Amino acid sequence: MNRAVFIDRDGTINIDKDYLTDPGDLELIEGSSEAIRIANALGLKVIVISNQSGVSRGIMTAAQVDSVNSKLVDMLKRSGARVDAMYYCPHHPNYGDKVDCECRKPRIGMLLRAKAEFDLDLAASFVVGDKWSDVKCGENAGTYTSLVQTGYGESDYQRCIDGGIKIDYLAENLFDSVSNFIRKKIETDN
Ligand SMILES: [Zn+2]
Repeated sequence: MNRAVFIDRDGTINIDKDYLTDPGDLELIEGSSEAIRIANALGLKVIVISNQSGVSRGIMTAAQVDSVNSKLVDMLKRSGARVDAMYYCPHHPNYGDKVDCECRKPRIGMLLRAKAEFDLDLAASFVVGDKWSDVKCGENAGTYTSLVQTGYGESDYQRCIDGGIKIDYLAENLFDSVSNFIRKKIETDN
C-alpha cells in the first residue's frame, strides 16, 4: 500500500483569492513547489483536494476550475514538482442543485476515491490545509493532520480548538509541514 499527502489548494498551495476563476491570477505560496518536490522524493502520492462550491453558487464554471487546476499543475511541474491527482467538489448543500454529497470536505469522499485509485493506506497518510474542514476531513478519514498558518489558518486554528478537532502539526506553511513534520514521520517509520 502507498502513503499520500492530501493537500488543500487555495490558501495552502496558492494564495487564496476567494473564487479564483482566472488561471492568470494564480500565485504560489512561497515554498509550495519545494514542499511538493520533497513529498515526491519521499515516495508519497501527492493528491490535491479542493472544495469549489463557487460552481454551485454560480460564481464559476467547472471549465474555469479545470483551467485553474491545469495551470497550477503546470506551474508546479515547471519547478520540478509532481501532482499525482487533483480532485475537487463542486457541490454545496444550500446552493445550485443542493447536493448533499460525500465529497465536500470535511467529508471524505475525495480521500476514498484516491484510496481506491492509488491503493492508499489512509492511516499512514496526511492531510494538510488551512481550514478546519481540512483538519476535520483528515480526522474523519483517520489520517495525520496538519493545519498551515497561511490562508485562513489563523482564524481556523481557533475553530479547531473550539471544536475539539485534533491538529497533529501546526505549521507555518506547506513547506514547514512537509519538511518538519511529514518528512520526520516518514523517516521515523522507515
Ligand atoms: Zn461534493
